[in-house]
Amino acid sequence: MATKHPFAEYIEYEFKEEEAGFGVPYLVPDSQRTHKDGSAPGGDPIERVGAGLVVIGVVALLVQLVSGAMVGSWVGFSLSFGFPALGASLYFWAKYRHTAPGIKNDGLFFKGSTARGTIGWMVGVGLTTFYCLLYWYPEVLRDSGLVAITDPIAIALTGRPGDHWFVYGLLYTLCVGVFGIRMLMRYRHNRYHIVRTISVMFFQMAFGFLIPSLLKLIEEPEFYFTTFWPLNRYYLLPGENGMAWTATEAAGQVGVYMLLFAGAMTFLGTPILTYFYGKRWYCSWVCGCGGLAETLGDPYRHLSDKSTKAWKLERFLIYFVLAFIILVTAALWINHTRGGDVLGGYTYQVQKAYGFWIGSMFAGVAGVGFYPIFGSRVWCRFGCPQAAILGILQRVFSRFRITTNGGQCISCGNCSTYCEMGIDVRAYAQRGENIVRASCVGCGVCAAVCPRGVLKLENGSSVLLEERYTS
Ligand code: SF4
Ligand code: SF4
Repeated sequence: MATKHPFAEYIEYEFKEEEAGFGVPYLVPDSQRTHKDGSAPGGDPIERVGAGLVVIGVVALLVQLVSGAMVGSWVGFSLSFGFPALGASLYFWAKYRHTAPGIKNDGLFFKGSTARGTIGWMVGVGLTTFYCLLYWYPEVLRDSGLVAITDPIAIALTGRPGDHWFVYGLLYTLCVGVFGIRMLMRYRHNRYHIVRTISVMFFQMAFGFLIPSLLKLIEEPEFYFTTFWPLNRYYLLPGENGMAWTATEAAGQVGVYMLLFAGAMTFLGTPILTYFYGKRWYCSWVCGCGGLAETLGDPYRHLSDKSTKAWKLERFLIYFVLAFIILVTAALWINHTRGGDVLGGYTYQVQKAYGFWIGSMFAGVAGVGFYPIFGSRVWCRFGCPQAAILGILQRVFSRFRITTNGGQCISCGNCSTYCEMGIDVRAYAQRGENIVRASCVGCGVCAAVCPRGVLKLENGSSVLLEERYTS
């Protein structure tokens, strides 16, 4: 008969405790909470003014959509777009200025909005619905009056009434701006985050919105200086499928310069900058998709899947999309140079399929719509062909890496939790190993949330680069 272990009771007790898991933690009711300066949340008058402006803006928007009153006027536009943007910015500024900067871990995994609860799902459904309307039913946005509300600013910037793409660009820019202020306030203690957040806000506002609009105003091709092939496939596609040669010749000398710039950035600028700074020069400082993920997507960054299965899926999907766009581009060029007698209309069909499945479904609907469910970098991690190229360059020859001081690590796991790319940063930190992962976008949040200063983003010398291959 087996004898009972003398400590069985304790062992059993511990086991049961583990089995019980972790319940909902005790949260101090809002009425009893105080900020670090002793004030109550929501007690700041500016916070209340901000919230009030948002409410007024939403009511004004609904009134315009329902009654048509003020639609197309500056007053209507300012009330329905300006008030919410200004109000939300004020709200975030006033709300966070009373709190200690940095992450809080206060009920993050227990709130409906940030833990795939009802509010999270509602936001996700709202975002995916908006993208579906934008891509496939733009007439709904137009007929509802939403597009016409933006006419005053569209006419001022582009010289013509707005369309659904103008509304999209405007909303996108406002989101990056407003949630950029939230990000700035949350990480105001960290210079890297201040600089890179201002950088993505600037690039979106100037290069993602204002400059393309003003180019339209002066009747030049609408050109985005911060997107290159393969993210913006049109820039290197031939003929009527893209901008290359025939389209730009029609656009005149400026179009040719634009095309040269796009080509130089794809083949020269991208490898050179990635060599010096890693993938982050684009994914975390310049790119509009990255900009939205780092601002609007920040409340959801902890939802990224950290499993090995997800890592495998990530590698398969991202390189599949890269191969897909390379094949599409090559096939279109072969067809174009042979006068369409090689693959005929099939190449056009394949390019259309890429546009639907990758450009619209993956990058837009799933990429942004699924923020509250799968985290903020679904597209960047699993689909973006630009990220795939940058990742290969970063892995193979860039000077960028995250160094770890393993002896200091207390295994709290903050770094892995907040890595939006699903990298198990802690596993590297515990081993004191440098992190050189193709998927790392160099956002730096892992380093910012580490309580022990274990992680450091560095652009190393070539000597350190050699160590990567010899260690
Ligand atoms: S490893 Fe760190 S820097 Fe890289 S993506 Fe994750 S959180 Fe950002
Ligand atoms: S956040 Fe810092 S201390 Fe915590 S597990 Fe990561 S490296 Fe270690």
